Amino acid sequence: MTSLTRGSVSAQLAGADPYPRPRRSPSRPQLSSTQRQVTPRSVPSQKGRGRVGPRAVLAVIGIGALAVIALWWHTTPDVSGLGGWLTGAGEVLGLLAGYGVVVLVALMARLPPLERGIGTDQLARWHAMGGRYVVSVVVAHGLLILWGYAVEAHTSLTSETATLLTEYPDVLMATVAGFLLLGVGIISMRAARRRIRYETWYYLHLYTYLAIALAFSHQFAVGASFINNLAARFWWSAMYLTVAVLVLWYRVAVPLRAFARHKFTVVGVKPESPGVISIYIGGSHLDELEAEPGQFFRWRFLTGSMWWSSHPYSLSAAPGTDLLRITVKDIGDHSQALSRLRPGTRVMAEGPYGAFTAGRTGRGVVLLAGGVGITPLRAMFSTLPGPVTLIYRASSERDIVFRDELDAIAAARGAKVYYLVGSRAEIGGDPLSPRMLRSLVPGLDQQEVYVCGPSGMISAAVEALHGAGVPRRQIHFESFEF
Ligand SMILES: Cc1cc2nc3c(=O)[nH]c(=O)nc-3n(C[C@H](O)[C@H](O)[C@H](O)COP(=O)(O)OP(=O)(O)OC[C@H]3O[C@@H](n4cnc5c(N)ncnc54)[C@H](O)[C@@H]3O)c2cc1C
Repeated sequence: MTSLTRGSVSAQLAGADPYPRPRRSPSRPQLSSTQRQVTPRSVPSQKGRGRVGPRAVLAVIGIGALAVIALWWHTTPDVSGLGGWLTGAGEVLGLLAGYGVVVLVALMARLPPLERGIGTDQLARWHAMGGRYVVSVVVAHGLLILWGYAVEAHTSLTSETATLLTEYPDVLMATVAGFLLLGVGIISMRAARRRIRYETWYYLHLYTYLAIALAFSHQFAVGASFINNLAARFWWSAMYLTVAVLVLWYRVAVPLRAFARHKFTVVGVKPESPGVISIYIGGSHLDELEAEPGQFFRWRFLTGSMWWSSHPYSLSAAPGTDLLRITVKDIGDHSQALSRLRPGTRVMAEGPYGAFTAGRTGRGVVLLAGGVGITPLRAMFSTLPGPVTLIYRASSERDIVFRDELDAIAAARGAKVYYLVGSRAEIGGDPLSPRMLRSLVPGLDQQEVYVCGPSGMISAAVEALHGAGVPRRQIHFESFEF
């Protein structure tokens, strides 16, 4: 069935968040089946607070790389002959690799200023791109050093390799580390990742920590920049130690502390549409989390079969002081198993994460959702101030989630909601073409646009919005894939 309908347009109450909440009962929590109006609540935007922007982070990373090159320059007295140049190039690449792995780990350390300022998906893209460079630099470092040493010692590559591996245990460990990094790089390539399960890839990926630990000692044992330079050794160790502490703090200690403090517990599970459920998670002092609509948590449900993996799901309603809601489409084993969750199941929630939140620019806002990408936009729809238009693309009427809620919010706050339903053939063209978008939203180029959906839909929508005259800086999107 094809429909292009316009939701109700009236009333005030911006900030209301009408969604069915579960009736909380210690003995047998249940979901109420009727809509209930929750007290209107405007969620204050944290945008700009405690966040660091992409340019500042890239500048710091670049300055760090220059400092590393300066360290090599300062500690290298003379470079002469082919062997000297090869070894020198190998050394500087080795230093850059040693620095690069620390940067890569820091990007994934879940540091709140980066998570809020840049966003997990962007950090993951930087991490993946940086990972490719670092693995290449590690390989080049090893080959250049071997070649340079062989030239300087007037020996063959094979004999130089044997000498280094048999007489220098730190170099042997670093070589194992190099192969581990190369292996992780190979399984992270797009073609390989498509063939293995996410969890398999994730746990193999953790071997990078082992690789970094194995490679550490060879830097001081044989690295020319460190052997006679106590200050360099001190600052280099401090850099590694700082990032290790940050990883342990933000990836282990903070989630455990939040688990103890907030006592996250499943209080209800509610079917929304075929293959889509909402999970209501209760807890205490949830306002302290300062979660914003548009953000997500990594959820670890503590059941026998699910405790070992955490999965990212966005808040699908504005966070309350004692209740959070996520809405999940079953696409794999974990998301399917969630429908069998029982009230009372304890949950570890890590977050909030993500920079997909609305700042106060004074401009109107357009929310553009595809499929289950409606979840973060649903939470924003009820809380954003000012004029808002929601455009929801779905392949069939059955796939529309939250229709009643969206219509109720639209009516309450005087917003517009458009459902673009059906295949292109049924609709008679591309429903997200620049022309269609402009016709739905007059003055589109003046609006901030938030897009969430499958990655193909996001790319197409971003291009269409740009084609419709919306400047790139006004287009914000979140992909459900890291
Ligand atoms: C920031 C973000 C917010 C999200 N919000 C929602 C939401 O509100 N509702 C919703 O239905 N889905 C959401 N997702 C997608 C959801 O995380 C995946 O659909 C889910 O993890 C799939 O797990 P599975 O075992 O069921 O499927 P699988 O078949 O195992 O995985 C399918 C795909 O999901 C991704 N994935 C799987 N496991 C993980 C994991 N542990 N961590 C990260 N990605 C993983 C991988 O790309 C994988 O290829 C979100 C994803 C991200 C990155």
